[in-house]
Amino acid sequence: MRKFPAPIHNVVAGLTRFPGVGPKTALRYAFTLLRMRQDEREQLARAIVNLQHVQTCSVCFAHAENPICSICTDTKRSEDILCVVSESRDISTIEAANAFNGKYLVLGGVLNPIDGMTPETLKVKELVDKLEANLDITEVILAFSPDVHGETTMMFLARKIKELDRRATRLARGLPIGADLEYTDEVTLGDALLGRSEM
Ligand SMILES: [Zn+2]
Repeated sequence: MRKFPAPIHNVVAGLTRFPGVGPKTALRYAFTLLRMRQDEREQLARAIVNLQHVQTCSVCFAHAENPICSICTDTKRSEDILCVVSESRDISTIEAANAFNGKYLVLGGVLNPIDGMTPETLKVKELVDKLEANLDITEVILAFSPDVHGETTMMFLARKIKELDRRATRLARGLPIGADLEYTDEVTLGDALLGRSEM
């Protein structure tokens, strides 16, 4: 890359850490920032610094503004269906589909021993403990992307859930094999939730 003043170079170096952002795109973003007013830049910088205030909900392990998130404290949501997802961001994808009114649990990833993701590093024990403590939960929806690691994780969890005498279901039709939940449109995801099948 051409030699730029250090402040520009530093921004470019930071931006290339984002997924899908190479040096050219990073440079384009850096020049966009350079054209902004200083107060706009400060607002953006503050928003980034304020990410330090994001907490983990102590009940479902999703990102939250408070010790317990707004979904877990919502008394209008059903207590008998629990939806298990890989990451916190999957919750917003499912919420956008507007087809689920239960509560969630964020597993913290998928089983992938080569990458060091084992039942011990995921919230598997927390899920089992939750089911043992809450007999109201009759069904657990496993809402994982249907790729290799997602499938392995769902099979593993379904066995545990059935051992505890609860229904384990998974998202149904519409989700292509290997599709990432994050990139599934709301209508398809809504259909997949409604048409979920027994594991
Ligand atoms: Zn929560």
